[in-house]
Amino acid sequence: MKKTAIIGGGASGLFCAIMLLQGNSANNVTIFEKMNRVGKKILATGNGRCNITNENADKIERFYGETPLFPKEILSEFTPKNLIDYLLKNGLLLRKENDKYYPFSEQAGTVLDFLRLKCESLGARILVDKKIENIKKSNNKFIIEGQEFENVVIACGGKSSPHLGSDGSGYELLKGFNHAITPLLPAITQIKTENQFTKQLKGIKADANVSIFVNQKLIREDFGQVLFADYGISGPPAFQLSAIAAKNYDKNCFLSLDFMPDFSTEQVKEQIYTAINNPITSPLKVENLLTLLLNKRLGQVIVKSCDININQNVYELSDKKITQIAERIKNFRLKVTGVNGFNNAQITYGGAKCNEFDSKTLESKFQKNLYSCGEILDVNGDCGGFNLQWAFASAFAVAKAINGENND
Ligand SMILES: Cc1cc2nc3c(=O)[nH]c(=O)nc-3n(C[C@H](O)[C@H](O)[C@H](O)COP(=O)(O)OP(=O)(O)OC[C@H]3O[C@@H](n4cnc5c(N)ncnc54)[C@H](O)[C@@H]3O)c2cc1C
Repeated sequence: MKKTAIIGGGASGLFCAIMLLQGNSANNVTIFEKMNRVGKKILATGNGRCNITNENADKIERFYGETPLFPKEILSEFTPKNLIDYLLKNGLLLRKENDKYYPFSEQAGTVLDFLRLKCESLGARILVDKKIENIKKSNNKFIIEGQEFENVVIACGGKSSPHLGSDGSGYELLKGFNHAITPLLPAITQIKTENQFTKQLKGIKADANVSIFVNQKLIREDFGQVLFADYGISGPPAFQLSAIAAKNYDKNCFLSLDFMPDFSTEQVKEQIYTAINNPITSPLKVENLLTLLLNKRLGQVIVKSCDININQNVYELSDKKITQIAERIKNFRLKVTGVNGFNNAQITYGGAKCNEFDSKTLESKFQKNLYSCGEILDVNGDCGGFNLQWAFASAFAVAKAINGENND
């Protein structure tokens, strides 16, 4: 009977336990969890709804890290479809919104209950309030809390949102086996910008195509709802671009927001003239110039950013000024000054160096029978179900390896 210790009772640790026990009922699995209950982070996912996976979460280009191709094989061995089929077969009904999947109940608690109850019914031993700070090796066995194990799985997550459990202590456990950790950055978080305009827009939501430039080069763009705040911007595009912002904010890094991505600058200009020249809808005062196009306050801030007095009559605006306004709607620039830190971040960008692990089994190349899965590795997915899919797929790979299915 193989004894396996899983350090960390989060998404990947719980799923790994299930896969180990379902694959071989003779397995003996103990989960050590530092918090007073397992899976606290799962409860916070997807705004409490748990965006459990994404139909594109097997696409390697949606994952990042120093070795970007590393997760390819593991993601293709356990795809979103495999996860969805497994959950449905086991009674967890899902609902789909665009490319994202949520539990049908729309409660993250459903996912945690599913994982926890499965673990319990399959006979996993769950020990809470057990923060593991060292793992000893003796006679080919690992010693944890005075107990012997043949296999150890480090599933401690990263260091983002430490109040939910993952405080970075897992990295220390891996360093104890000579593993290196890549530089760590908060990701899927809010972006801080120069706030002269965002302060005035605080609380406003607007759809925009957001592009991030570093040293004048377009690095990435994303469309979605932007939420303005005192410090800068939040919302899905900010989350998606935050790792790039974190890496580059000290360079010449700025965001360009396009509030009318389906219109050319010329078409935006035409729309403004249509409003001005229509005797019924003519805004008369510049403060109302963009009321028919955009959120009112956003329109006013855009006009003010062009150094135009908003109390002026619209007919006093030169064509040059109207062109400038149209251009500003298409390219509203915010200088990036940083990102909100690990306390607010959903994931950690960076982690244990992937090339020190087998890309099929996730076994350490330095220590036999030591495995890692989930966010602790330097595999970082986009916002939208990608990181949980990685947690589950990597847990599946480890369980399969321990169950001996990779001994070919
Ligand atoms: C607010 C928020 C919302 C999110 N929403 C989504 C979403 O909707 N979809 C999505 O795909 N991803 C989402 N994520 C990211 C996703 O939750 C994580 O990527 C995923 O949970 C990682 O799983 P994991 O098992 O590797 O780590 P975790 O889930 O962080 O679990 C690690 C566990 O290990 C325990 N632990 C840590 N150190 C030790 C130690 N030394 N000893 C014992 N136990 C230890 C921790 O307490 C924790 O329970 C979200 C994250 C946050 C913070």
